[in-house]
Amino acid sequence: MREVRLVTAHPIEENHRHWWLVSGKWRRLHAVPAVAISPEQMRTAVDDARLLPARPACGMRRRWTMPGLFSRLGRRRCTPCCEALGIEPGYGTPANEASRKDPTT
Ligand SMILES: [Zn+2]
Repeated sequence: MREVRLVTAHPIEENHRHWWLVSGKWRRLHAVPAVAISPEQMRTAVDDARLLPARPACGMRRRWTMPGLFSRLGRRRCTPCCEALGIEPGYGTPANEASRKDPTT
């Protein structure tokens, strides 16, 4: 299940220990610290189709949910969130972006 792991929005190491989430209205991927939402909270919220209140790295106060597969692959990351984490702005979750880079180049 390696590919599933690589496109995940979960706060794994490749995602800089942040959830990469979207709000109902704003379509960028924002970085919510792993400690802000437990995996149990996220699973319950997804099951109930609820949004979770949390504060991403950029400080925007909204309610968040897991992005769909295509969002994880292609949505633009919030620039202030990326700056707060010290990573380059780009598209998709950092884990997904890393998986697309050819390690031999
Ligand atoms: Zn943000």
